Amino acid sequence: MYDVVIVGAGPAGSTAALVAARLGLKAAVIDRLQPPREKPCGGGLTPRTWKLLNRLGVEYPVYGSCQNIETRAAGYRYVLRKEPILITRRPEFDYAILRQSNAEFIKDHVLGVEGGRVLGRAGEYQGRVVIGADGATSAVARSIGVVNYRQHKSHAIAYMTIARGPTTDTCVIDFDAVVRKTGRAGYAWVFPLEGGANVGAGVGWGSWLDLRSFVVEYAEGAGYKPGPVLGHPLSLGYTAGLGRGNVLLAGEAAGLVDATTGEGIYYAVSTGAAAATAAYVALKIYGNEKRALEIYRGLVEPYVQEVKKTRWLSRMAKTLGTMRWVAKLLGRRLLNLYSKVYTGEATYSLLLKPVERR
Ligand SMILES: Cc1cc2nc3c(=O)[nH]c(=O)nc-3n(C[C@H](O)[C@H](O)[C@H](O)COP(=O)(O)OP(=O)(O)OC[C@H]3O[C@@H](n4cnc5c(N)ncnc54)[C@H](O)[C@@H]3O)c2cc1C
Repeated sequence: MYDVVIVGAGPAGSTAALVAARLGLKAAVIDRLQPPREKPCGGGLTPRTWKLLNRLGVEYPVYGSCQNIETRAAGYRYVLRKEPILITRRPEFDYAILRQSNAEFIKDHVLGVEGGRVLGRAGEYQGRVVIGADGATSAVARSIGVVNYRQHKSHAIAYMTIARGPTTDTCVIDFDAVVRKTGRAGYAWVFPLEGGANVGAGVGWGSWLDLRSFVVEYAEGAGYKPGPVLGHPLSLGYTAGLGRGNVLLAGEAAGLVDATTGEGIYYAVSTGAAAATAAYVALKIYGNEKRALEIYRGLVEPYVQEVKKTRWLSRMAKTLGTMRWVAKLLGRRLLNLYSKVYTGEATYSLLLKPVERR
């Protein structure tokens, strides 16, 4: 019997394992893939994310960075010079956090949770608290009836490639290229790495699925030689609940991804840490695992509120985003406000203040 069984070794699960270990909990991490495993991702660590990792004292590998952020929207180009976005590679990033936890790792494909037991294809695992950190298509969440990501409108799909070519100091976020090609909301990105870039694109689910060839075309057009193209769904905008009974959902398993940008690592690390902390308080302070979920809810409420706001903002952006006059009037001002959010200087309340009910 473990104190905590964690399903998923992404940033949410690995951070939960690290914090659980520091708090002296006996933890096991189960993943269907042996780490280091690939996870399609832009690898962009916004300033609020790397500041959080630094505060947690986590070491992580960085393969590139950008000081300039060039946004292309409605025919305009805006360049902001801010604190850098650091670019990592997910196999190495996730594995680095997991290794620092020294947690027991079990390779198994989890089918769900039943009566507090985690059921895998190869075995059953008993934890006083279970943390479901198994990402966008979470089997844990489905098994406790909290969410089925396919039933919700708030999901997206994104493809990426590690491409060879010039190294620059600029991250490109290009809404125009996706709108031109598809007529739908979404964006392409170029995030610089040593000897090339992470190039990709994401759109709302079902809006246009031939993103794979678009990513190849886009990378070549930007002067890069694309490698293999990988895709993955995203579960955005908090459509789930946070758990049930002794099961807590962290990161993308709870839909905790920014619906306007697709940024998920920040929320995965934050809520992974919060889930392990809640397990510790419930087990070691109250001696009652049934209290873990209520404690977790309290800890992550600010993140849930933030992500809910992004759902609203993304609907607004879909309506207004392609209108040239909006970009002209508000473009630079909006981007400046956005940059305050991803650097961690402010929350989305800042953007929504003018329209929020008092
Ligand atoms: C193409 C793309 C680009 C992105 N770019 C960025 C970016 O630049 N910056 C950013 O912040 N976010 C980005 N995101 C979002 C980010 O990748 C995710 O939000 C983040 O990985 C969520 O972390 P997580 O730990 O919750 O889940 P994941 O990282 O998805 O980890 C889940 C883990 O659970 C395991 N698992 C799944 N099902 C099972 C099962 N049944 N049994 C056992 N194990 C299982 C998986 O193997 C995986 O290791 C991007 C997403 C995509 C798709």
